[in-house]
Amino acid sequence: MSKEPHDPTHDEPHDPPHDEHHDPLHERLKAYEGRPAAVGGTGKDPVNEAMIRHWCEAMGDTSPAYRGPDPVAPPTMLQAWTMGGLSGHTDRSGAYDELSALLDAAGYTSVVATDCEQEYLRPLRPGDAITFDAVIESVSPRKSTKLGTGHFVTTRMDIRAGGELAGTHRFRILKYTPAARPEQREKTAPQAPQAADRPRRPRPVVNRDNAGFWDGVAEHRLLVQRCADCATLRFPWLPGCNACGSRRWDTVEASGEGTVYSYVVMHHPAFPAFDPPYAVGLVELAEGVRMISNIVGVPYDKVRIGMPVRLEFLKVDEELELPVFRAGGED
Ligand code: ZN
Repeated sequence: MSKEPHDPTHDEPHDPPHDEHHDPLHERLKAYEGRPAAVGGTGKDPVNEAMIRHWCEAMGDTSPAYRGPDPVAPPTMLQAWTMGGLSGHTDRSGAYDELSALLDAAGYTSVVATDCEQEYLRPLRPGDAITFDAVIESVSPRKSTKLGTGHFVTTRMDIRAGGELAGTHRFRILKYTPAARPEQREKTAPQAPQAADRPRRPRPVVNRDNAGFWDGVAEHRLLVQRCADCATLRFPWLPGCNACGSRRWDTVEASGEGTVYSYVVMHHPAFPAFDPPYAVGLVELAEGVRMISNIVGVPYDKVRIGMPVRLEFLKVDEELELPVFRAGGED
């Protein structure tokens, strides 16, 4: 290191010209770090047993610590005590709204919550009165993500009970410009089999847990997983057996016969790649497992529970084939 120790201001100009160091918007955004996002917030209710019970029921949490004569609140309820409900809070600071507006104006109009972290310092008990403050903790340099390019904004909320710090809740969002959607990018592709400007159906998410299923589809085989230990069939594909926990499996090929176990008719919302109304069936295969797919071959309003259906493979476009079920033959 040959930097002069007495003049640290020399460091900056000697840094390589990274984008993030020369992003004027980021400079403006960073000015919001440390500014309040909420000041003097108060919980709408004190910590109480009814909300604890509802939470535990919703979560399926049967821990005795949250019941009985001297319960504590589940720590993960921390944020619940600060929530404003439908009517909201009146204690929001303007800084967070300003920061959002600045990001909106720069084109980062979409938002997605990415993660939260909580730290618990003191148990909360029925009767505790909750107060909280929130601060804009950090705004990241511009980042490119699969969703699009934008800035991560981290807010830290300090939650107090009776004035004493009970926990912190960090909440991170990404404000971003959406990446161009595939149908927009592909509009110039010449090979669309349907109307040229018709968006394509969403692609399946193929991962190592379900790749074998899609390999089967490519060969026009509908493969169902079978536990290699207890022989229980399962669908959709999963890494382990719900019956015995085993991770060993093989497959059986479905015969293709099935019946409509249940169905819905989609009218709304309209999705560009589909023509509502259309029927989505829950088909029970002859092997006993059920799968969701389209019912074809009959008008959407003629689909009935119990209707026999048969597997076929529908070539949706030049690269996507899907297993669907054809009804018909009887009326
Ligand atoms: Zn099993």
